[in-house]
Amino acid sequence: MTEDTAVVWFRSDLRLHDNATLTRALESATRIVPVFVFDPDAFATTTFGFPKTGRRRAQFLRESVQALRATLRGLDSELVVRYGRPSTVLPAVASEYDADAVYSQTLPAPEERHVETAVRTALRDQGRALQTAWTHTLYHPADLPTPVQNIDDTFTPWRQDVEATIEPREPLPSPNKVPSSTLDVSEIPTLAALGFDDAPLGRDQRAVYAFDGGETAGLDRLAEYVWDRDCLREYKETRNGLLGADYSSKLSPWLAHGCLSPRQIYAEIDRYERERVENDSTYWLGFELAWRDFFQFQFAKHGAAFFRPGGIRDRDVEWHTDEDAFSRWANGQTGVPFVDANMRELNATGYMSNRGRQNVASFLANDRRLDWRTGASYFESRLIDYDVCSNWGNWAYVAGTGNDSRDKRFDVLWQAHRYDPAGEYVTQWLPELDGLPPEYVHEPWRMDTQTQRTHGVELGSDYPRPMVALEDASE
Ligand SMILES: Cc1cc2nc3c(=O)[nH]c(=O)nc-3n(C[C@H](O)[C@H](O)[C@H](O)COP(=O)(O)OP(=O)(O)OC[C@H]3O[C@@H](n4cnc5c(N)ncnc54)[C@H](O)[C@@H]3O)c2cc1C
Repeated sequence: MTEDTAVVWFRSDLRLHDNATLTRALESATRIVPVFVFDPDAFATTTFGFPKTGRRRAQFLRESVQALRATLRGLDSELVVRYGRPSTVLPAVASEYDADAVYSQTLPAPEERHVETAVRTALRDQGRALQTAWTHTLYHPADLPTPVQNIDDTFTPWRQDVEATIEPREPLPSPNKVPSSTLDVSEIPTLAALGFDDAPLGRDQRAVYAFDGGETAGLDRLAEYVWDRDCLREYKETRNGLLGADYSSKLSPWLAHGCLSPRQIYAEIDRYERERVENDSTYWLGFELAWRDFFQFQFAKHGAAFFRPGGIRDRDVEWHTDEDAFSRWANGQTGVPFVDANMRELNATGYMSNRGRQNVASFLANDRRLDWRTGASYFESRLIDYDVCSNWGNWAYVAGTGNDSRDKRFDVLWQAHRYDPAGEYVTQWLPELDGLPPEYVHEPWRMDTQTQRTHGVELGSDYPRPMVALEDASE
């Protein structure tokens, strides 16, 4: 069917490469109206009291929308930007341009589905259709050996089944042209208009990477990581690192906003294997992308059950509420240096390593038994790479309410010594402990008063005493 005009509603797919929504609209219509909607609900307060979108992610999103607009302008097109509920804005835009249909990405988590349903209903009332496409995973759900509703709830058998039976589809090319007539574009809302302090954000010199939003920045990082820095060669050995840009790919913020397609990354891994080397490390980056897929499909299967205190397994655990303890955790003041360093990195930069995330989540949920959902909600607010399925799925996994029934408690002290043996990471984020000999950096409470005086660190004054005795917690 040929349509005259199609609205393309960009959601978490802020790119032109491998974008099935855009490709399908281009195949069907002769004129495209690209739209991005800043939804006030995305900037509201969560039920746990945190801003749903923190300032750093809001900035990354603005940059990504700006970049999308610039790329579209390069193709003689435009990006219409609006502020409002999608179910109000999209019918209005569709009417304004007399569009035949609206095309968009479909997403698996409940709130995103709810928004999609509201848009579909509002368009139907106008006699228009919403055409959706699944565009954000490595494997397409239609190709899975088992339908999403019946997939295994445990990662390993699911992955083995998938790897043995299917291949990711090839990424779709970017279009050369996006035909659009003159469009009423509007300004991209400022941070102040989105409810944030407008003062410049600044960048912490200790940040692992300068994350700039947008498709070009994401593709540049992919090329830098894989080809220029040759990091894929040893990813499996470095991926548990804590310091610097290259221990892991740092592609997550672009993946979360859809500035990068996982199939594009997979295609680069494939090319690297053909042109340079194929080893455990090249396999492992695809393995991590499969984890990402797993949580997306798990949300398609279980939906809102992921947000229950007992999670998808309805586990019977008494979760505690303790505002003071939570605030110490969130502000990096627990007195356990490895936890505090990671939380301070998150607060200062919007990023934390996977190793750090596992440990701080386990500390909150397993050592303190504080409601794991408050931690997940705090991460939702702070992370630049926040993705509802990856975040809540991983939190539930660590808290024992998600996709694995084994005990997921991390021994934080053991982990600290193993992954930060010289205490370099901890002292980077806790300068008050700088100068302590390595044997005390991870366990400053082992210093007696005389040793504290010798090293100029007074516990309880320069740095907090630990809020939980970890040795007791492990018992
Ligand atoms: C408590 C907790 C919360 C998390 N919240 C998020 C989140 O909101 N958004 C997010 O993208 N990741 C989340 N992760 C997963 C993981 O920590 C990050 O994806 C990773 O640290 C991002 O850095 P990277 O891009 O350098 O990762 P790499 O090691 O280079 O991995 C490449 C990509 O694989 C995917 N990936 C890797 N590990 C995981 C995983 N365990 N689960 C799902 N996908 C994975 C990511 O898309 C990542 O960008 C969370 C993990 C934990 C334990």
